Amino acid sequence: MPATPDLSAILRQYWGYDSFRPLQERIIHSLLGGHDTCVVMPTGGGKSLCYQLPAVLLNQTVIVISPLIALMQDQATQLGQIGIPAAVLNSTQPQSEQAALMSKARAGEYRLLYLSPERLLRPDTVGWLQGVPLALFAIDEAHCISEWGHEFRPEYRQLSWLRTSFPAKPIAAFTASATRRVRHDILNQLHLHDPHKYIASFHRANLRYAVNLCEPNTQLGLLVRGIRHYGDGNVLVYVPTIARVDETVDFLAEHGIAAVPYHGQMDPNTRRTNQEVWMSDECRVMVGTIAFGLGINKAAVRAVIHLSLPKSIEQYYQEAGRARRDGLPADCVLLWQTRDSGLLAYFAGQIQDPAERERAWERYRIIREFAESNECRHKRICRHFGENTKWDRCDACDVCGYHPAWLAAPARLEPVQAKAATVAIDTARSAEWAFGSPELRDYLREWRRNTAHQQNVSAFIIMYHTSLEEICQKPPTSLAELRRITGFGDRKISLYGDRILEALRKFREGARATPAPQKKVMPAQETKRLLAEGKTFEQIAAARGRQLRTVIGNVADLVEQGEVEFQSTWLSPEKQSVIEAACARIGLQWLKPIKDALPEEITYDEIRLVVARLRRKHIAPEVDRKEAIS
Ligand code: ADP
Repeated sequence: MPATPDLSAILRQYWGYDSFRPLQERIIHSLLGGHDTCVVMPTGGGKSLCYQLPAVLLNQTVIVISPLIALMQDQATQLGQIGIPAAVLNSTQPQSEQAALMSKARAGEYRLLYLSPERLLRPDTVGWLQGVPLALFAIDEAHCISEWGHEFRPEYRQLSWLRTSFPAKPIAAFTASATRRVRHDILNQLHLHDPHKYIASFHRANLRYAVNLCEPNTQLGLLVRGIRHYGDGNVLVYVPTIARVDETVDFLAEHGIAAVPYHGQMDPNTRRTNQEVWMSDECRVMVGTIAFGLGINKAAVRAVIHLSLPKSIEQYYQEAGRARRDGLPADCVLLWQTRDSGLLAYFAGQIQDPAERERAWERYRIIREFAESNECRHKRICRHFGENTKWDRCDACDVCGYHPAWLAAPARLEPVQAKAATVAIDTARSAEWAFGSPELRDYLREWRRNTAHQQNVSAFIIMYHTSLEEICQKPPTSLAELRRITGFGDRKISLYGDRILEALRKFREGARATPAPQKKVMPAQETKRLLAEGKTFEQIAAARGRQLRTVIGNVADLVEQGEVEFQSTWLSPEKQSVIEAACARIGLQWLKPIKDALPEEITYDEIRLVVARLRRKHIAPEVDRKEAIS
């Protein structure tokens, strides 16, 4: 290693970046100097580079511990693409593959080696690692070590073993969200010696927070308005339960907005495909549960909208922080309802450990207070993480007077047909489109998608959205010009340079992206059609890739709207009559009291269907669901 390495030259040569982000250079120096180090930096701040760049210079292997296998794999692939040998070792790989990786690691062939905590803790690991030429340990998502954190992982606790087994090797802990208490816990648990601490500000000046208390029947209407407002921008919607993922995706589809779902119970292939579809801009709206987003790195997310209170400020800060447009403002909108506390009670009730349950409630109390308080949102978040701020007003949150235009007026939905004709671009969008042609953008996205597909990697591994945007704004005509685009280091230029120039040449000669087929999904109509074909609810759920509950909800709506006849075969005559009797006593407005009054074996789904029929029959439907949100 040279005495004073030219870090900027390495940054340019491998990563194709012009300058360091705040703190990166100091952190890299700390690691190169062999110090234990603790880094708290917001998502998107550029933590990975801090341990990846030293790996290039220290002629040894950096061991990275991360709980997210998919993320590790992406990082290792990306590193390979920029010419830095890296690999992932985890317990799910076949034995032979693990053995091959382990012997290559001993031979010092990797600059970075990613390990899951489970793999690290296997009894045979220490002996093997002692034979690997180790530079240092980097612990990603280090807050998982603390039970005071919101993502505590018991297996992380045992990482304290690293210090005992490798007393001379530096340990660097990285996290995006840690309160003082959690930071303290990280230092203690990992036994860091006199660590260098780097704590970036929690203030994300380009995020604009807005919190809005909604009535149940206005929330989805607002969401539709919001998504339409963001035009072609990417939007990430967080919902609290899997059932709400399906419901929301269907609701959006009925209003002409395509969205991809994401939740923990999907099969891994569908999940990966859906993530890819969103990451590569094929579909601009993603609706997911908390399962979505760990390690997600998408440069252009115009808004993150939450449809219920998250479980903690840390969680909110992390999820909202996925809104980023590289310096341009992005909106983080929390559309919550007072009934969210019921859901939390449900989640908290599932926690066995009384102390952990208590902590869950405490976290909820704080986020609820955040939603209801009159303190600047930015200030409140910083304060939560122990940071004192100096300003009184930020002008970038609802408390300080910022309101996204679509939140200001009541939500009125236009019918889908009208939406199809809505091609007018709003003012904000036209300003963005002033740079670069949308045709070139579509064309390059398609090129990137196809190239990624051929190589079986994610689209952003070929090039980030920011690089793609830069190319649109200043289409290069030579390799030297392409070299000036952020993200194009030596290796990327040699891998893709000629192909990109060739694609751009074809574009100039008239080549264009294949027009996307106009696909209009109307979930309720699709359910109606399948019902008319004689399909059972289960078959419809399977055909549409939806939860059974969602399909029955659709059917109940159709019955209530008079579009589908109630079928007496849906449930036994006995059940129908008990439900009817309960409805006669209690009324049809709410399902819960009816459910409470009935034997336990009668399900909400059965009640929903009977109530839908009665509402249709006895009372003119109080309000059509779609109009209720107008
Ligand atoms: P974090 O782990 O802190 O969430 P990442 O390490 O994933 O953030 O970095 C976020 C994004 O910023 C990545 O696309 C990364 O390549 C990019 N990035 C990191 N450092 C720089 C830099 N100095 N210049 C430009 N882009 C950078």
